[in-house]
Amino acid sequence: MLSIYNTLSKKKELFEPINPREVKMYVCGPTVYDYFHIGNARSFIMADIVRRYIEYSGYKVTYAMNITDIDDKIIKKANEEQSNYKSFAEKYANAFFEDYAKLKMKRADIYPKATEHMEDIIEMIESLEKKGYAYNVDGNVFYDVSKFKEYGNLSGKNIDDLISGARIEINEEKKNPLDFALWKKAKSGEPYWDSKWGKGRPGWHIECSAMSCKHLGEYFDIHAGGNDLIFPHHENEIAQSVVLNDKPFVKYWLHFGFLNIENEKMSKSLGNFFTARDVLKRYSAEAIRLFFTQAYYRGPLNFSDELLAGAEKGLEKFENLVDKINLELSKNQTNRVIPEIDIKQYEDKFIAAMDDDFNTAQAVAVIFDFVKEVNRTIAENENINTEFYKKVKLFLERTAVDVLGIINFDVEDKSANKDLDVNFIRQMIDKRKDAKEKKDYALADKIRDELKALGVELKDSKEGTTYKFVK
Ligand code: AMP
Ligand code: ZN
Repeated sequence: MLSIYNTLSKKKELFEPINPREVKMYVCGPTVYDYFHIGNARSFIMADIVRRYIEYSGYKVTYAMNITDIDDKIIKKANEEQSNYKSFAEKYANAFFEDYAKLKMKRADIYPKATEHMEDIIEMIESLEKKGYAYNVDGNVFYDVSKFKEYGNLSGKNIDDLISGARIEINEEKKNPLDFALWKKAKSGEPYWDSKWGKGRPGWHIECSAMSCKHLGEYFDIHAGGNDLIFPHHENEIAQSVVLNDKPFVKYWLHFGFLNIENEKMSKSLGNFFTARDVLKRYSAEAIRLFFTQAYYRGPLNFSDELLAGAEKGLEKFENLVDKINLELSKNQTNRVIPEIDIKQYEDKFIAAMDDDFNTAQAVAVIFDFVKEVNRTIAENENINTEFYKKVKLFLERTAVDVLGIINFDVEDKSANKDLDVNFIRQMIDKRKDAKEKKDYALADKIRDELKALGVELKDSKEGTTYKFVK
């Protein structure tokens, strides 16, 4: 039985969805003003694995990830680039979908966009105002936190502590520093929507309350996001939704630990980030996913090139077996021995690990043990029946491919290689770039040909040079 650590109750709870066979899950997605970074990717990938494991466990999952496509940062950056906010946000939403797919995440069922839900959002704010939980100050509408007695339950803080700890903003319009904007009056030159309070746009928190309710219902199973969203974003979503619908909002709250750099959160504002697309130029999606799955999803994790290179190297253990399986399956050898291997035992261990609050590190260890035993079995037996390889592949597909996404059976898409060190390839790519800059095209071509001879094909694009392994 699956148990999940619930941020709301602060303990592990048995997972019992509201509807016994169907699970509704909402994940706070990106604000599309830039390419997402590998820290964001940690949250997205771990949410993807949570979803896939729940599906593996036999539930149908309806998975929604919102796209914040209107926000201060979008407006500011679009203005800087002298582009229209809408096409600007669309450009980065498209980039998001591309990188999301490259990281081998399963598409969400719904990607609601804030700008496409304005009517629902405005209706909700009106309703909060009617219920006496919102107040309008000259076209800005705020949520009155003092009215909501459960405020602070998710983050585990009480209102008084929060007020004394809050950085008091210079905002004389608010009754209380913790009150947050539901509707922001448009400044001149900003995009706006019409409302009874005048021209403006919604606050970020109400967008998620409106979109989750619209697509998953008033009370749904899982709401997830990075740790930084517990307060105030998710606390505020609860305050809004509970009052609006007069019922609990979410059954299980899941939060992902930060990806850090030198123990500091990777973030756009600190500037200590690598975009997922840059990291993907150097490491395979499987290596990135292996790196994340080797740590507990709730704890912090330090990012480093060495750790990722280590994960890429770790994948080599799968490579030989994947090649062997693909080769054997192309032959279809019958009338041969089928060596004994207790796959059920590994499956049970995999399930036990994942059932324990998604202990992916343990689950990955089970996969490595399994691969080791299979390799030993292959070495010890001659004339193995194809049936054996089919069974092995099926187990790996169901677990390491479909749930964790750390093995790739697709030969065309091979992104890890047996003999070559990724650092070496990167050094060669850098050397070639230098050569090109110095207009030494002969050397640049020589490097490309040498890598080709080693089975590494380079591809140049605007963003730089990527490589892939070719057979
Ligand atoms: P944002 O686009 O900043 O709203 O972030 C999108 C998602 O990534 C949210 O769920 C954040 O909590 C999460 N996130 C942001 N930075 C990190 C990080 N360094 N490590 C893990 N998750 C993060
Ligand atoms: Zn959200």
